Amino acid sequence: MHRCSAVNVDIDSLYLYYRLHGLDESRATNAVWEKGVVRFAELFDEVDVKATFYVVSQDLERWPRARQICAQLASAGHEIGSHTDSHPYDLIHQDPSTIAAEVSRSRELLSEVRGAPVTGFRAPGYHMAPAVYDAIRAAGYSYSSSLFPSWPYHLAKWGVMASMRLRGKRSKAIVGDPKILVASRKPHFRRDVLELPVTVLPGIRFPFIGTSLIAFGHRGYSLAKPLLNRLDFVNLEFHGIDMCDLHEDGIDPALLKQPDLRVPLTDKRAIIKRTLSDLRERWGVATLEQLAPLLASGARN
Ligand SMILES: [Zn+2]
Repeated sequence: MHRCSAVNVDIDSLYLYYRLHGLDESRATNAVWEKGVVRFAELFDEVDVKATFYVVSQDLERWPRARQICAQLASAGHEIGSHTDSHPYDLIHQDPSTIAAEVSRSRELLSEVRGAPVTGFRAPGYHMAPAVYDAIRAAGYSYSSSLFPSWPYHLAKWGVMASMRLRGKRSKAIVGDPKILVASRKPHFRRDVLELPVTVLPGIRFPFIGTSLIAFGHRGYSLAKPLLNRLDFVNLEFHGIDMCDLHEDGIDPALLKQPDLRVPLTDKRAIIKRTLSDLRERWGVATLEQLAPLLASGARN
């Protein structure tokens, strides 16, 4: 198989971060869509990359501006994928009819705005279960890119959740299935659905996502590069907030718990741009929807 890579952005709006940290979400603005996503689209244009944006479809009903931006992303040639209708962190614990409604409603709404059927799905919080795979297959999706089999990431997250609980705070995040630690990091099939995991580095499965690129900067990236070079397929995930600036965008300092928010936008932009240029030159970048047939035949063999 030729080397290939994909770049994607989960559009998790600020209200979701308030929920994650157990804070009052009524103060949340729409900066992720209006600033972060718009800047990502500009940067992708600059480096000539077509990406996938995973959208929480309810946002399009909540904010007309989000709907407009989503339509612009689609007409610029980016893939629009589903990040469910309302981003329930505990989707895998819901009953089958709720799961079905989340994934099918989202697909209908997003396909309408996209002007073409949506084929890609990403679960909230990287949690998947057989019932969710069954539901997305039934709803007509052709792939999922939801798993993130990173030991350091999941262990750190469980640590944060435990310490919040000790301080009497409740996060909306869930623990999920510990089997994620041994899940394949390569494209594979689950319940007859193609799963394209988010990239972790060979070895201890260090997360190779926007958050870690931003937190560890150019030096970290240089260390990661030899490991990255061993991969045939790189699936790089960002979040809309990765291109937000704490001061410029008036983001609530209560959200400073997000380590990457402390990094100035110009620095974040520089490391993201460097990584995207490398991916384009060494792997070639296409959307997951475009790569899915090729990766599916690789996963079957
Ligand atoms: Zn999300």
